[in-house]
Formats: sequence, structure tokens, C-alpha cells
Amino acid sequence: MIKPLVAIVGRPNVGKSTFFNRIVGKRVSIVEDTPGVTRDRIYADAEWLNYHFTLVDTGGIDLASEDVLLSQMRAQAQIAIDTADVILFMVDAKQGLTAADEEVADFLRRFKKRVILIVNKVDNYPKLDNYYDFYALGLGDPWAVSAGQALGLGDVLDEIVSHFPEESRGDEEEDILHIAVVGKPNVGKSSLVNTILREERVIVSDIPGTTRDAIDTPFQEGEDRYTIIDTAGLRKRGRIEDESIERYSVIRTLTAIRRCDVALVLVDAQQGVTEQDTKIAGYVHEEGKSSIIIVNKWDLIEKQTNTMEKMRKQVLSDLSFMDYSPVHFISAKTGQRTQKILDMVKANYAEATKRIPTGLLNDALGDATAAIQPPSDKGRRLRIYYMTQVGVKPPHFVLFVNDPELMHFSYLRYLENYLRKTFGFSGTPIKFSLRARG
Ligand code: GDP
Ligand code: GDP
Repeated sequence: MIKPLVAIVGRPNVGKSTFFNRIVGKRVSIVEDTPGVTRDRIYADAEWLNYHFTLVDTGGIDLASEDVLLSQMRAQAQIAIDTADVILFMVDAKQGLTAADEEVADFLRRFKKRVILIVNKVDNYPKLDNYYDFYALGLGDPWAVSAGQALGLGDVLDEIVSHFPEESRGDEEEDILHIAVVGKPNVGKSSLVNTILREERVIVSDIPGTTRDAIDTPFQEGEDRYTIIDTAGLRKRGRIEDESIERYSVIRTLTAIRRCDVALVLVDAQQGVTEQDTKIAGYVHEEGKSSIIIVNKWDLIEKQTNTMEKMRKQVLSDLSFMDYSPVHFISAKTGQRTQKILDMVKANYAEATKRIPTGLLNDALGDATAAIQPPSDKGRRLRIYYMTQVGVKPPHFVLFVNDPELMHFSYLRYLENYLRKTFGFSGTPIKFSLRARG
């Protein structure tokens, strides 16, 4: 089940970051250990009662002149509409109602999204300052909080989780394969989406239960149903400052990745793997998603012997944490090799959802540990009693051992490679957990 997404929008300085940090419960930025991946607090997982969700601070607005501020806020609200299940619109009780608040409220009201109006900085709780003025925004009862003093947050969280989609919505989409097309600007995402959709496929217009229509295109090929999640097009939306463009494309990319079954990670053939590509691929890997690395604009490359094989090696070495993924060379422009993509997506999906019977797994484990002994430390050797697969998407294995502390990173890597050699799992990350067996 995909976690619901909650986005916070509002003017600068109303207290969005303070609220965000309170809910997420830590001030630190989140830095992952995948090479090249740093995430700031744009995006974090949160929990309330038994609900798990993802909180996004859409932020990214500078204190600018009034008209620039307005266009930035509209862009911010738009990204929330495109990606979130629930939108928190935050205003400031100390400053009172502003014209920009009214504009954004008008904009938000036009969509069918659930919007919760939060009046922050109500520090003297019983005295509600300008609280009643905010009814004028037409977004229902305002929720008074003080993020600074941690007042009223529990009530708002109750309200937020009460609007999460029913579990059943996940079932409805179960037989639809979601494909995310991700990559830096100008790498050819829109071109590829258009090419895939053009190739004689039926576009299904109204699949019930899909609410995020702005970026999802469902289509069908034979009996197979797909939805393509587009992350392009942001730049075309008018005048937004560079920093917020960057922020919004990160939000959009992360959201698409989180919701997909298979990600197409686009790389420009002429530029090779760049830092930004590494970052995006890193998100896909961390989220445990199946991926295909697509090298686009192959038509622009002058080919000599082995150009493709050389490039494949280079790409896999640059994205070494993702060296389990297929690399496919295309031209979205001419359509070269694009027809093969859907078959590859299906194959990837099959690998990511494959289950290996425990008996076979343990045969492989026996062979692997016989070929190279598990590590030992201070005279004690790691013993792996048995392993079993507990999950798919990504495949997840539990190893029962004498002492998890004795496991070494390099030995896990060895086991992973052994499993891949024996069972495949092309395109998908693999997850291991260790349990001490008493
Ligand atoms: P953002 O720009 O919307 O992310 O706002 P910040 O979270 O950075 O907060 C802007 C300023 O408002 C900071 O100086 C905060 O300390 C302050 N602030 C945030 N929440 C409260 C609150 O509940 N009461 C008061 N008095 N100040 C707050
Ligand atoms: P996006 O920003 O990732 O959606 O990239 P676009 O699909 O808008 O493509 C950016 C530019 O690259 C456009 O001018 C496209 O025509 C061009 N382009 C996209 N794919 C190819 C390709 O395979 N070959 C060539 N030569 N140009 C391409």
C-alpha cells in the first residue's frame, strides 16, 4: 500500500518548516548513504496513530515582490494539487488574512482536493486573534495551531488522517502497471511518453479511482493495462524562480517514483551519466523500485565498433549501486528500439514480484556459503541457519543467523550477487534482514 501524501503550502514565514519539523519529529536533514544522494527536508515520512504518511514541504518561495510571490504561490499550489492526497494550507494568525492568501484559496477551491486550512501562530490558545477572519477563505473551519509551541497539532493530525483514501483504492488499481518516466530536464521524457502513447495503444480516459489525473495517463495494450506517470512539463508552466523549479521537480519526481512499479530512468547519450542523473537514480534505488536505465538520443551518437557496449559498461559503472538494471539505448525522436520498452517493463515487473521457494533458496545458500565462508570476528564465525523470502517489490529476504553483528557488508553483497546469478532479479533492488535465532 502506497503511503498517502500530505503537502503543506502557504506564504513564506507562516511557519511551514516549523510545523513540518514538529510532525516529522527531527530537525536533522535526511542524508542517505547512496552515493550522490542528499535529501533535504522537502520530503519525510511521518506517523500518527497507526497511519503512516509522507509529508512534503512545498516551500521554495522567496520573499519577493507581490506579483512574483503570487505566481510562485500558484505554482506551489499546483504541485500540491498534482501530487498530494491532502493539502494543508497554512496561514499566519499574527499577520492576519492577506491578499495572497485569498488568491491561493480561490485557486485551491477550484480543484476537488481535500484542503485543510491551518491558522498558525495562535500562541495564546484561548485568545484566537484573527482566527475568525479566515472563514472568509471559504475552506471550511480553520484549525488553530501553534507550531512554535506545539499546540493543537494532535487535533489537526486527527483531521488529516481522517481524509486518507480507503485501503480499497489500492486494490482497484492492482492490475495496472504504473510506469514512471524520470530524468533531468530536456533528457527526452515528454518525447518518450508521447512515443509510447502513440504506438497504436488505446488511451483509457476514465479509470475510476484515479484521482491524480493531471499527471497520469492510463493506456492499454492488448489485455495489459498501464498508467504512465509523467514528470515533465514543469518548466512550461510560467515564470517560477529557479530554486522553486528545482524543488518542485524533485517533489514531482519523488512522488512519481514512490507510486510506480517500474521506473524508466532516462540518461542523455551525449552527456553520459551526470550528477543529477545519479541523484534521480539514487531515489529510485532507495525506494526499492524496479528500474530500466534508458539511454536516449542515441541517434545523435556517432557509432564505431562497440560504442554501445562501451557506453553500457560506463553507465553501469557510473550508477554502480544500480548495476542490476538493464540498460536500453533508444531514440525517442526516431522511435528506434522504443517498441521494446513495454516488454522490458513487463519482464522487470515479473522479476520484482518473483517468489523463490524456501527449499531452492537454501540450496543456493548452502552452495554460496560452501564456496566462500561467512565472515568471523574474534574467533566467532557467522552462521547462517537458513533464509526465506518474506516480500516482493522489492524481493526481501530474512536470514536467520547466530549473531547479526557478525555479518559484514561485503558478505551480504556477495550473497546478493549469488542470488542474482542463481535466480535473476534483474532490474530490482534486493533487501535483506537479519534475525538472531536463539
Ligand atoms: P516557513 O517559511 O513557512 O517555512 O516558516 P518557518 O517555519 O521558517 O517560520 C517562520 C518564522 O515564524 C520563524 O521565525 C518561526 O520561529 C516562527 N514561527 C513558526 N511557528 C510559530 C508559532 O507557532 N508561533 C510564533 N510566534 N512563531 C512561529
Ligand atoms: P523533457 O524535458 O525531459 O521532457 O525533454 P523533451 O522530451 O521535451 O525533449 C527535449 C529536447 O530533446 C526536445 O527538443 C526534443 O525534441 C529532443 N529530443 C528528445 N528525444 C530525442 C532523441 O531521441 N533524439 C534527439 N535528437 N532529440 C531528442
